[in-house]
Amino acid sequence: MAGARVRCRGHSGGVQVSSDVPLAPLTTLGLGGPARHLVEARTEQELLDAVVAADAAAEQVLLLGGGSNLVLPDAGVAGTVVLIRTSGIRTTDAGADGSVLVSVAAGEPWEPLVVRTVTAGLAGMECLAGIPGLTGAAPVQNVGAYGQDVGLTVAEVRAYDRAEGTVRVLGAQECRFGYRHSRFKAEPGRWLVLEVTFRLRRRECSEPVRYAELARRLGIPLGGRAPLGEVADAVLDLRRAKGMVVNPGDPDTASAGSFFTNPVLSPAEFGALRERLRRLPGEGSGEMPGYGEPDGRTKVPAAWLIERAGFGKGFGAELGSGRARVSSRHTLALTNRGGATTAELLTLARTIRDGVRERLGVELVNEPVLVGDTL
Ligand SMILES: Cc1cc2nc3c(=O)[nH]c(=O)nc-3n(C[C@H](O)[C@H](O)[C@H](O)COP(=O)(O)OP(=O)(O)OC[C@H]3O[C@@H](n4cnc5c(N)ncnc54)[C@H](O)[C@@H]3O)c2cc1C
Repeated sequence: MAGARVRCRGHSGGVQVSSDVPLAPLTTLGLGGPARHLVEARTEQELLDAVVAADAAAEQVLLLGGGSNLVLPDAGVAGTVVLIRTSGIRTTDAGADGSVLVSVAAGEPWEPLVVRTVTAGLAGMECLAGIPGLTGAAPVQNVGAYGQDVGLTVAEVRAYDRAEGTVRVLGAQECRFGYRHSRFKAEPGRWLVLEVTFRLRRRECSEPVRYAELARRLGIPLGGRAPLGEVADAVLDLRRAKGMVVNPGDPDTASAGSFFTNPVLSPAEFGALRERLRRLPGEGSGEMPGYGEPDGRTKVPAAWLIERAGFGKGFGAELGSGRARVSSRHTLALTNRGGATTAELLTLARTIRDGVRERLGVELVNEPVLVGDTL
């Protein structure tokens, strides 16, 4: 909570409530006005008390983890922000198949967890090194990178169901994981993730590497394996080169990661996109990247579409104050170069969304959660 000016107001459900707390320093974008009330929950009981008390008072609740996948409004948040700072990691040998169950409190930071599992010789999250944020948010958008996503290793999620007023344990099937999606994202306001249990494999080598760029970097064939530490290090190198590891001194990393998800197109939509690209002056569709999905659709990299639509790295200097811009290292990251507002960032996002729609006929959808707004 460094940098936050906090005025204490009192107690609610046994936890301290602060008022008019600046939220921008609690996000990676550094955007957003103050929270009317903020509760910092360090134990699971405090977390439950805070959410139950706010629900009972019919207050708007915002669950805040690492603030790395959120765009908060300039006007701030009128209700209660619950800052998740719980801790605890338990490891249990699951049985003869060599799997290990790792149960992690929602407030545990993600990156140190990956380092810890890799160092302990546990495979399953090595490609997710360098992703910011906390563990409780990982199942919310089924975080993923370099061919792995958490849905592959989540065994169960223990969560408070705010609709039913009970704590429930959801198996992986019940979490309904999809590409950057889950039941928790599909039912906003219903779930408070308390703890996530992962099933990892005790082995020296990684799971098969499914991402071509990473396999090339490691010098192995696609589907090959490499020592866990080498895979995690290679992922970190690739991410750093793209400004996708948070570094307070580097304005390219003041983002919410990828701002748009990769569109998944039906065969008809994919054909129409090829046709549009063929008609663009000076453009060919020959090398258009696309990854086949099991249901016959094709996932197309949003970064590639954005560049083809004419929005290059660094775009945005000509919009408004120019303080909200596309990263100079990755077309998919929208950044706050210092002093931007959420309104400016959303203008940039809408300009790109509209341009891609106009030129290529593809609708881009935002990946981060926009609080109190839509694109
Ligand atoms: C530089 C950078 C790189 C990134 N790279 C990737 C990447 O490679 N892959 C990827 O998938 N994401 C990536 N992200 C996005 C982000 O890091 C992840 O989505 C991360 O899991 C968000 O965690 P958080 O704790 O910061 O969540 P927050 O931003 O605090 O919250 C995100 C959403 O989850 C909700 N939430 C948070 N905690 C809980 C909880 N315990 N229970 C219920 N709801 C909760 C919030 O209310 C909000 O709706 C990146 C972000 C940045 C800034």
